[in-house]
Amino acid sequence: MAPHHRVTFVMACASLLLPTPARSQAEDTVLAAARSVKRAYGEHPGLGDPTVHRIADGVYAITDLFHSRGPLAGVSAGIVFRENAVVFIDCGMSIVSSQFLWEIASARMTGNEDLYLILTHHHSDHVFGMRVFADRGVTVIAHEIAAAELSDDDGYYKAFITEQSGWTRERGDSILGDVVLMTPTQVIGKDSVLQLDGAALHLLVTPGHVPDELAVYDPTSKTLFAGDAIYESRTPATRFGGPAEWLTWIRQLERLQQLEIGTVVPGHGKPSSKDLIDRNISYLQTLVP
Ligand SMILES: [Zn+2]
Repeated sequence: MAPHHRVTFVMACASLLLPTPARSQAEDTVLAAARSVKRAYGEHPGLGDPTVHRIADGVYAITDLFHSRGPLAGVSAGIVFRENAVVFIDCGMSIVSSQFLWEIASARMTGNEDLYLILTHHHSDHVFGMRVFADRGVTVIAHEIAAAELSDDDGYYKAFITEQSGWTRERGDSILGDVVLMTPTQVIGKDSVLQLDGAALHLLVTPGHVPDELAVYDPTSKTLFAGDAIYESRTPATRFGGPAEWLTWIRQLERLQQLEIGTVVPGHGKPSSKDLIDRNISYLQTLVP
């Protein structure tokens, strides 16, 4: 990890960087595991109705994980496999969501990989399962502002979500599980590169939704895991800022437009083509003078 490393955008010859051809679903261990793990958790109220999408070889998006605001708010996560590393991007709003992510990835893991969890920001729907990963020795990476929020929690955030959702404490426990928020292992304050056997992932600081937003760009598969910088089939959540933050948000999306992108994985909604960025910019532009 080189926190001070400046990101250089990859504009290399597209023909050399195309994802490898898709294998059939029947051969994909992660997709097969997803079906059996989902069956095993049955009707757990904290899982949601996750769908696992194979974006490229070793690159997965998981959509429609549980959200306290209901199925239409379902949250996304990502998993990227490298030769000697596995990187998780966000971990859902419940312990069982994180267990689902861990177990489907385990089907393909050798047990010798370096393991990372990147939190795109500190909001409950993206971080509540983090202890599942921390308990397994996974290196947790987040923005320094997110780190400050997570470090001071002491059970407050889970109690807040439980109350806001109109649940009893017992109901909150049964849905969310034994949530423990904690200080990430590594924090960044600006664009950074996570070096993984020559196939780096780029961590881009993209404030707007909240100041601690990170987007994760995989130049190998041309996938952008956008966190809540980008929404699909939902209105972007702008209530955490005002016009100044929305202008910042637009500028960050314009920066993301410069990347060579095949698939955008939004924080909420389905994996989409690059023009999803344009649609999010168009919406935000209606809010600013
Ligand atoms: Zn979210």
